Amino acid sequence: MSSYDDQSAVTVLGLGPMGRALAGAFVDAGLRTTVWNRTPGREQELVERGASAAGSAEEAVAASPLTVVCVVNYDASDAILREDAVTAALKGRTVVNLSADTPDRARDTAEWATAHGVRYLDGAIMTPAPTIGTPDAVFLLSGPEEVYGEHRPVLDTLGGTHTHLGEDIARAAAYDIALLDIFWTAMAGYAHALAVARAEGVTGRELAPFAQGIGAILPPLFEEFAGDADDGTYSGELNPITSAASSMAHIVHASEAHGIEASVMRVVEGQARRAIGLGHGTDGFIRVTELLGRTAH
Ligand code: NDP
Repeated sequence: MSSYDDQSAVTVLGLGPMGRALAGAFVDAGLRTTVWNRTPGREQELVERGASAAGSAEEAVAASPLTVVCVVNYDASDAILREDAVTAALKGRTVVNLSADTPDRARDTAEWATAHGVRYLDGAIMTPAPTIGTPDAVFLLSGPEEVYGEHRPVLDTLGGTHTHLGEDIARAAAYDIALLDIFWTAMAGYAHALAVARAEGVTGRELAPFAQGIGAILPPLFEEFAGDADDGTYSGELNPITSAASSMAHIVHASEAHGIEASVMRVVEGQARRAIGLGHGTDGFIRVTELLGRTAH
């Protein structure tokens, strides 16, 4: 059997923390794993565990029917995949791009793949590197069903849950952007909260258990407000937006009294007050969803 036909062979391009975790899980699953990284040296531990190091990206992609690329963004994956020799070697093979970027970049990469006879799936990883190979890993994938079905046995060795979101190639990136929006605004809120608490003499460790309590309130609210956003029903019966805006103003005042800038909370309070000004004061905060687009009213 040639390496091209070997369905238990996989190539990983990109050996940052996530690429190394992916390659390590493939090695642990007994797959013939070939690795390559722009900067040499990062493959050492994987080679000791049984991976093969390729001398070039072209050599790496030629070693397997499936190449998983996981680099910082699509400028980086383009720099690797769109090099002429690499593109030629990929013809008839499959690329799964697990790097993060925007839906437009996923569409653009799919167009490039079609134009060059490369089979293409786009994907996103929603959990940190240490989860790879464990039941906690979460993968989102989009692209042709047939290609996903063919490579699923290899992808499944990465552990966790894999959700194929359909044939629209940009869907995984769309979910990724929306979910990372939640993550980074929450992290910005937590960084700010730690600064405000510190200014009042409360340590991070003292605050943390209660911060976790606030985090635990969110999952059921996500579920409830998703329905509100889909259906356009924004009942503020239990917490009207007028009350939310008042609470936000306290955070702005308390922060600025300590010389801590409160620009994020100022913007959010402004959005809430705009909703109130438009006559939605008795609605819940998620009414703001309707005000964020250019055509909102
Ligand atoms: P980074 O996001 O820091 O990416 C590092 C990798 O990108 C290295 O292999 C690096 O190569 C490569 N790279 C950067 N620029 C270029 C370039 N111009 N040409 C070629 N290669 C380049 O590390 P991660 O491994 O953590 O992340 C990879 C992807 O996985 C990212 O898109 C990230 O958002 C996503 N992800 C990561 C998670 C994590 O926990 N780490 C969680 C979920 C998603 P070199 O060594 O040569 O610099």
